[in-house]
Amino acid sequence: MRVELISVGTELLLGDIVNTNTAYLSKELAALGLGVFRQTTVGDNRERLLKTLESAFFENDTVIITGGLGPTDDDITKECAAEYFGRDFYFHEYSWVKILERLTRSGRNVITDNNKKQAMIPEGAIVLENFCGTAPGIIIEENNKRIILMPGPPREMRDMFEKGVKPYLEKYSKKKFISKYVRFYGIGESLLETKIKDIMDRQTNPTLALYAKTGEVLLRITASSENKIECEEMINRQLEEIERREGVGEYIYLVGDENISSSQTELNTVVANLLIENNYTISIAESLTGGEIVSMLVEKSGISDSLLEGIVCYSNRSKITTLGVKEETLEKFGAVSEEVACEMALGVAKRLNSDFAIATTGIAGPNSDESGKPVGLVYIAVYAQGDVSVKECLFVGDRDLIRFRASVEALDEVRKNILKKL
Ligand code: ATP
Repeated sequence: MRVELISVGTELLLGDIVNTNTAYLSKELAALGLGVFRQTTVGDNRERLLKTLESAFFENDTVIITGGLGPTDDDITKECAAEYFGRDFYFHEYSWVKILERLTRSGRNVITDNNKKQAMIPEGAIVLENFCGTAPGIIIEENNKRIILMPGPPREMRDMFEKGVKPYLEKYSKKKFISKYVRFYGIGESLLETKIKDIMDRQTNPTLALYAKTGEVLLRITASSENKIECEEMINRQLEEIERREGVGEYIYLVGDENISSSQTELNTVVANLLIENNYTISIAESLTGGEIVSMLVEKSGISDSLLEGIVCYSNRSKITTLGVKEETLEKFGAVSEEVACEMALGVAKRLNSDFAIATTGIAGPNSDESGKPVGLVYIAVYAQGDVSVKECLFVGDRDLIRFRASVEALDEVRKNILKKL
């Protein structure tokens, strides 16, 4: 592979900003064992960028461009790349949803038409998600040539390189790359980043990358070497250091390969495996989660020997007649209460005499209940071989998100209870 790096931006030519992107990329590509043959800087000018592309591809097969992916008229990188490869544009719905989410989160309530320009993608291109900004990255491949476009702001570019471009380029490298994925539950991305920042900053090999998931964090550890066993040893040493760190290790619930990287959660897999491997049985009574916990567990084959039953007991009548919740408890404390959750868990466990049981009751919204309890208030009760514990949670988000967060939290609670009983 012969790589040319092109930086786009008149500010760079005027000396107003220092070209740190090129320095970073050259180093990273060298670490991948890929040769950079030329670095070029060009202003925000269509004719000159097209000429630069002609000349770059005359000598090299891979061009990486940073800058000029913004929403304004002088951002012309994507248009020039599409023109060079003769591609039309189409509107990429997923990128648009992500752009809207980011603009809304940053408090921008006026969204203009030129924001839509950033969701226009050349036909046949690979789209790289931008986790730190709005402009998605783009890769176009044709006849052994490839062009990779990333945004100019260094923070966005580095994050995109680490999460999207590097994994893409690894297949062209002579070195071996091995990754392990670590899933955390119960700790947020920024807190985790603060706690392991020193490790993340000092590492070049293995490298670490954090991904925020809904309610969870995923950490990728990637090592490179000529030798696969050496890669694995480096990863294991790194993992041990992270596991040992106070306030970090206890939140890890799963370590695995790429298979565990894309799902929203793997807590259902972990709970299903714990139940199956230990011949434990479970019963589930769901009010606000409406069957979501059962549905997550039945995704896992082999669960039929462990999952005895799942009951959706939405009404008070069902809670009383099916689970034996006392009328007085409902009247005194309300359906969304610690006491009712506890009776639900005991009731469902007793029906078929299961080892474990989960019960959920809460307010998914959008309206709060008559007693004025807030939207997002959820009680999760876990029965574990004779003991019952109840957790009170307050989740934020819309109805779907609150129900999802409650289901996942319930799975984590039962996971911890099973581990205690082993
Ligand atoms: P935006 O959406 O922010 O406009 P963009 O992809 O269009 O992003 P540019 O407009 O080219 O990127 O650059 C945005 C900012 O990123 C620049 O003002 C500069 O601060 C920084 N930047 C761009 N290119 C580089 C570079 N090569 N090295 C360091 N900083 C850069």
